[in-house]
Amino acid sequence: MRETDWTKVLGWPGYRVYRHEINESAKTLKLGVRRKRGNRKMVCSGCGRKLSEAYDTYEREVRDLPWSEFRTTVVVELYRVRCPDCGVKREKVPQLPSKAAFSQRF
Ligand SMILES: [Zn+2]
Repeated sequence: MRETDWTKVLGWPGYRVYRHEINESAKTLKLGVRRKRGNRKMVCSGCGRKLSEAYDTYEREVRDLPWSEFRTTVVVELYRVRCPDCGVKREKVPQLPSKAAFSQRF
């Protein structure tokens, strides 16, 4: 499959799969996910203010639903923002509502 096909299967609005690793013997699938170009609206997780500039990025691993017999891990590239009110904060991401290790689809 091509990266655009992985993106369709993942189905996270505004995000795309930019790399994937399949381990056939361990039956694991790892997907690297980041924002689609043009998706630059960020929300401060402290106060909800909308911001358009990233302070820096970090990666977070979440388990996703298994794809067929493969255990799936999604490594999401996320941003931190510098909020005028809260300082440097992680962006709020609707697909990742809490600190739980699973996406909202679980
Ligand atoms: Zn804020």
